[in-house]
Order: sequence, then C-alpha cells, then structure tokens
Amino acid sequence: MSRWVLVTGAARGIGRAIVDAFRGRGWQVVGWDRREPEDWPADARFRQVDVADPGAVDAGIAALAERTPRLHALVNNAAVQIAKPLVETTPAEWDALMAVNLRGPYLVSRAAYPLLRAAGDAAVVHVASVHALATSANIAAYAASKGGLLALTRAMAIEWAPAGIRVNAVLPGAVDTDMLRAGLRRGHLHAADLEAQLAELARRTVLGRVGTPAEIAAAVVFLADPAQSSFMTGHGLVVDGGATIRLSTE
Ligand code: NAD
Repeated sequence: MSRWVLVTGAARGIGRAIVDAFRGRGWQVVGWDRREPEDWPADARFRQVDVADPGAVDAGIAALAERTPRLHALVNNAAVQIAKPLVETTPAEWDALMAVNLRGPYLVSRAAYPLLRAAGDAAVVHVASVHALATSANIAAYAASKGGLLALTRAMAIEWAPAGIRVNAVLPGAVDTDMLRAGLRRGHLHAADLEAQLAELARRTVLGRVGTPAEIAAAVVFLADPAQSSFMTGHGLVVDGGATIRLSTE
C-alpha cells in the first residue's frame, strides 16, 4: 500500500524539491501552492490552494479525502518573507505574513488531522528556519513567524502523540531559491550585486556554501518516514551548513 504526502508551497524552490524527494521514494504526492507550477510531474497531483484561506484549505482536504482515507505525511512548507525594518512593516503586511507562515500550518494541520490520525503512524513536518533561533536586522516579522512555528511544533507534538502523529520541524539555513535571492537586498551583506552577495553568504557559512533545496528535502523525508525517525517528535532539525554554530563575536 502506497504512502501519501501533502506538500504546501510545492510549485517551486524547496517545496518542489520535497515533492521530487517523496516521488523518488514511491510516495503518492499531492502538492498545493497558490500559484500554478511551471512544470509539474505527471505522477504527482497538484491543486491551487492558498494556505491562508480556511475555505480553500478545507475544500482541498475534502478533495484529498476522496482519493485516500489516510495521509501519512504533511509538509507545511509554504511561506512568504518581508525583508524590511520593523517600524516600516505595516499591520496589514504583518498580518498577511502571519496568515501564511503561522496560521497556514495551523489551518492545514487541523484540517488534515482526521486523515493523519487514520494513518496510525503519520508525521507532520513544518519547514521553519534558522531565523527561529538567531536572526538579523530587517526581517523581524518573518523571524517571529518561524519562532512561532517552532513553538507550534512542540505543542502539536504533545497533543497529537496519542493519535500516533509525530510533529517535527526542519530549520534550513541559506538555500538558493527565489526567496533567498529576494531577501539578500535587506542590507546585511556588503557585496554590490546578487551573485557577489550569494558568494559572500557562502563564505560566511562554516561549510563554505549555501544549501540546495534537495538537501533540505532529504531532512524532511527523514522526519516524515517512521522507518528512519520513529522516536523523534517535537524536534527542530537544523540544516544550515553550520551557519548557526559560530559565535558572531569571534
Ligand atoms: P520560495 O519563495 O522559492 O517558494 C515558496 C513557495 O510557497 C512558492 O511556490 C509560493 O508560491 C508558495 N506560497 C507562498 N505563499 C503561499 C500560500 N499562501 N499558499 C500556498 N502557497 C504559497 O521559497 P523557498 O525558499 O523554497 O522556501 C520554502 C520554505 O523554506 C519556506 O517555509 C521558507 O520560509 C523556508 N526557508 C527557506 C530558506 C531559504 O534560504 N530559501 C531558509 C530557511 C527557511
């Protein structure tokens, strides 16, 4: 019997790599995104869903329930980033970010709960960020949302353990995606152009490079697969090339 996984923010970047990692292991994959993907694999399903919209989330889960009575893994990956000073962040921008990054995982997890419980050995994986642990200037709303997601990870792990559902988070460091490139403009790097900024970021990381979406996807699959991580729940797994281990004062 095949295992089913739902991945949000699946159209591009890390989400798309997560889709491919599960497909490669023979899972039935359902991807959600608020935008249509440019190239979607024929052996996976796609639905346009905005995770900030409770009605769209409920309709998406109802459609999923018509295909499978069991969901073995849910990956809450969809997120947005605002890279600007806190005093310039409007209440509307703050709310819009929280609606995707923090309320989205809550809405999707809550709606998917009956399908996850029916699996008996299901796992939820939230894609958080190293910004949940340490951060920089001009990214406060995003950092707060990811810190909240880590707290949600622990709370859900406790509440859902009796239902046989493990809940963990992956905390990526810098990974080369559209989101990373857009966020490089927030002024924490000195190099002039984008490629030079990426190289500067890579040099600052202990392993000397930024990560690939596939490297984050591998950690997500590890936490979703009970054959690999059955005794892990409520954990935040940092996958950052060593970015957070070095003291900034050294
Ligand atoms: P990305 O912007 O390249 O892709 C994000 C995807 O999520 C897009 O396809 C977008 O359309 C989708 N999305 C956004 N809002 C949505 C919504 N309301 N409903 C449905 N889909 C929505 O970003 P990425 O770099 O691939 O990031 C993926 C995850 O990894 C995010 O949670 C992000 O915070 C996290 N992360 C990324 C990095 C990095 O360096 N790239 C580092 C740490 C954490």
